[in-house]
Amino acid sequence: MLEKVEEFNMEKVIQEFETLTKDAGRVQRETLKRILEDNASAEYLQNLGLNGRTDPESFKACVPLVTHKELEPYIHRIIDGDTSSILTGKPITTMSLSSGTTQGKPKYLPWNDELFETTMQIYQTSFAYRNREFPIKNGKALSFIYSSKQFKTKGGVAAGTATTNVFRNSRYKREMKALQSQCCSPDEVIFGPDFFQSLYCHLLCGLIFHEEVQLVSSVFAHSIVHAFRTFEQVWEELCTDIKQGVLSSRITVPSIRAVMSKLLKPNPELANLIHAKCVGLSNWYGLIPELFPNAKYVYGIMTGSMEPYLKKMRHYAGELPLLTADYGSSEGWIAANVNPRLAPEFATYAVLPQIGYFEFIPLTQLENNDASSSFLSIDLNPVGLSEVKVGEEYEIVITNPAGLYRYRLGDVVKVMGFHNSTPELKFVRRSSLLLTINIDKNTEADLQLAVEAAGKVLAEEKLEVVDFTSHVDLSKEPGHYVIFWEINGEASEQVLGECCNCLDKSFVDAGYTSSRKVNCIGPLELRLVRRGTFQKILEHYLGLGATVSQYKTPRCVGPTNSTVLQILTDNVVKTYLSTAFN
Ligand code: AMP
Repeated sequence: MLEKVEEFNMEKVIQEFETLTKDAGRVQRETLKRILEDNASAEYLQNLGLNGRTDPESFKACVPLVTHKELEPYIHRIIDGDTSSILTGKPITTMSLSSGTTQGKPKYLPWNDELFETTMQIYQTSFAYRNREFPIKNGKALSFIYSSKQFKTKGGVAAGTATTNVFRNSRYKREMKALQSQCCSPDEVIFGPDFFQSLYCHLLCGLIFHEEVQLVSSVFAHSIVHAFRTFEQVWEELCTDIKQGVLSSRITVPSIRAVMSKLLKPNPELANLIHAKCVGLSNWYGLIPELFPNAKYVYGIMTGSMEPYLKKMRHYAGELPLLTADYGSSEGWIAANVNPRLAPEFATYAVLPQIGYFEFIPLTQLENNDASSSFLSIDLNPVGLSEVKVGEEYEIVITNPAGLYRYRLGDVVKVMGFHNSTPELKFVRRSSLLLTINIDKNTEADLQLAVEAAGKVLAEEKLEVVDFTSHVDLSKEPGHYVIFWEINGEASEQVLGECCNCLDKSFVDAGYTSSRKVNCIGPLELRLVRRGTFQKILEHYLGLGATVSQYKTPRCVGPTNSTVLQILTDNVVKTYLSTAFN
């Protein structure tokens, strides 16, 4: 029997969003009221003396700004099996495990059905606006999505990454079908225990259904680039599988073998077609539209720490538009991309005022202090969603329906404008500093700019940076910055030396340049690592329970992250010291 799919009403969703955003301030007050009423019995709120008040003023006066650290005692009680109302009215039975690639260690965050609901609201909103501009037919999505294992904590609480909690929800498939974005791979592939085998089969399914594929997507863009880089390595094997109708012996997981063997029929014609297409391409330019002639766009989060992958993605996508997905986190969704025609570099995200209560700490309040979470929250005075100013930067504070109240997310955003009366945000960076030795202050965004500049020098040799990270080396006086690079070929000594100098010169923060001039910070060091090193780092995080779907390469490796540091150190093939300030 055919499964009934509820019609998606694009106009209705757009209309609803337009109405909600016309009165975003009021919707925010109502959302806060709803969250506080639903969770009035939670011990955390009871102890703060709100006494039933739900207005933003009382909320701000009674409830402190917090980071994850302050919530850990509560979260640990939940994980350990305390089923009383701790953070929420209804006890939390599921936790999300954040990847921990940005903060160093995985964090537990409460998850509940309301968060699934807000996820769907975000997906539907952005889909409606996207589909108005780039309509897709009823077809399939080649989605590089991976679900990590769900496990039980010792207190019996289910835990998995946030994407896993979404993919495992019984409504997920139905909802994605309604959005014409159903993944072309079977569940056994998405939920497979071995990342590489799942990736190989995603590619195989994409090729089998190549004419039906309407879009190519992933949660974060890194997975798309990673998938097609892998395709470059395994495409002939994929063709052989399709030609003979026999699955490669690489695939050893029984459930994946069983389901894929059913899909795979000998099809020499298709295999020859793909083979001809691949050999006809120049350096894989335009691979995606060549393989998937009916794809309308490539979709996934492409801003922030994903920007370094844009160039490669454009290369694979050829003329196909790149559309950045929405803005959110394991802590909850925030905003949707309702201007899909903007290139990712200029993308903004419109806040959904009904999915959480949002506050914004002006960056100027943080600027005179260390902008990290160690700064005392007590002195901060965030503004509400309707009070933000265009052109200003803010750190986001979230109150969500799953037990986070005035939670500092650690992201910096810039207000670019308003959609009706809700702000349109540009993601700027994580708020914490990556590289600092003394008076120098460099963030993820500064590092990204430096790598981009030096990448242009490397491009003169027709080479590119596959991935990168950084480290502060304090083992010798004076301390210095180390940048690790994996590149896709052999570059001359001279060019790499120039790249190293360019990196050093590209950190333009006055604290850095003045310290470099007087040698309070030593010459920047570029360490080249072997091909495949960043794959090893990815595998290390997967081993810790992270999922590829949410993976973000750590852009700075601290001294306590000894395993990753060891992987990098073991794979260094060459080092260069900057002479830029000699
Ligand atoms: P996770 O902890 O895996 O849930 O990742 C959430 C983090 O990913 C956010 O706090 C942001 O730093 C980043 N992120 C999520 N969505 C976007 C986006 N659209 N653009 C840039 N960064 C994003």
